[in-house]
Amino acid sequence: MNILIHYYSDYRVKTLDYLSRKISKDELRVASRDSHSRRRPRPCGLTVHTGIGCPYQCIYCYIYSMGFPRVIRKYPLSPYALAYAIASNKNIVLGRYGTFLALGSVTEPFHPVTKDYSMELIKVLHDILGNPVQVSTKAYIDYGDAKNLSRFDGLSILYTIVSIKWAKTIEPYAPPVEKRLESMGILSRYGIYVTLFLRPFIPGITEYEIDDILDRVSSTNIDRIVVGTLRVNKSILDSIRSHSRELYNLLKPYLPNRIDERQRAIKTAEVKRFIVKRAIEKGFKVYPSACSASIDASRQRCSMCRFGPCGDGSYPPISESDLVEFLEFMGYKKLDVSINEDDIVIYGRIDKNIIDYIKTVTRRDVKTVLR
Ligand code: SF4
Ligand code: SF4
Repeated sequence: MNILIHYYSDYRVKTLDYLSRKISKDELRVASRDSHSRRRPRPCGLTVHTGIGCPYQCIYCYIYSMGFPRVIRKYPLSPYALAYAIASNKNIVLGRYGTFLALGSVTEPFHPVTKDYSMELIKVLHDILGNPVQVSTKAYIDYGDAKNLSRFDGLSILYTIVSIKWAKTIEPYAPPVEKRLESMGILSRYGIYVTLFLRPFIPGITEYEIDDILDRVSSTNIDRIVVGTLRVNKSILDSIRSHSRELYNLLKPYLPNRIDERQRAIKTAEVKRFIVKRAIEKGFKVYPSACSASIDASRQRCSMCRFGPCGDGSYPPISESDLVEFLEFMGYKKLDVSINEDDIVIYGRIDKNIIDYIKTVTRRDVKTVLR
């Protein structure tokens, strides 16, 4: 089977047809207008909202300055309707080699209010869409939840810990770090692909605790880490200053030159290098971004961006003749192509959306050359 053609056409038609039979006409109308049906994915994939708002109120969190509330409620579409919205989004590639789906970037998926919803949604995304799914969380997960999650092959879970001593100050209503470590141990016992999410690390704090954090995570049999930089804007800094003047002062030397409502990364290259070095010394696999943990969990390989190649798995099974056939299917007369280890060259002018599609499904960078 030519998977480039399959995922472009039949797979989407069949998936939408199946999902449309699972939801009412009213839900279908609402889903077609939902933001998941039109948003373009970010480099880490499409952020999928399992809820609206978050009560954990981490003082570095960006969602409150985006207008999300400090309480949580389930996302207003049923899991099937939300999957329908995603499947109808032409910017999203469906299937095993499709767009990464990331749950938990603007809410807590496993909060008691949304946990059942998220579990059901993961099931629908995994079983029907088939895309790689990743969940970031700080919530407590027990044996029953872990057992349920263990049936989703390729699921990637990112567990956030950025400090132990300061956790109560910076993540005032999130579960204690001890409970998160306990959850990581439980998930790991069930063979679930869990990665420590050290994002956002806080300079002046995290580097002094890094050995302790890594040792404790290691004791749960997890030896993978994603390290991410804090991004700030005026609202986030106001929040940090009002909760802890001491923390604000620690951050001051690292702040970007300009502070307004736009989010900017703080200047912490040296601290990040130190954290990465300690992680490597302690035997951790360090991922350059969240999606690289997802690609490894799916046992795939990816060189779509400058961080690649990522993942110890294999590239999708696509030959040069498959690519030529797909391009003909899209209306391009016999073009020369070459599929190399980590990239693809197409000799001809190709529409950008088609290049993006080829990149995603082949998991490789695509260059076009005119001759
Ligand atoms: S748990 Fe995540 S979404 Fe909730 S407040 Fe903390 S950083 Fe924000
Ligand atoms: S190359 Fe790595 S970081 Fe880049 S998109 Fe692929 S998995 Fe993500």
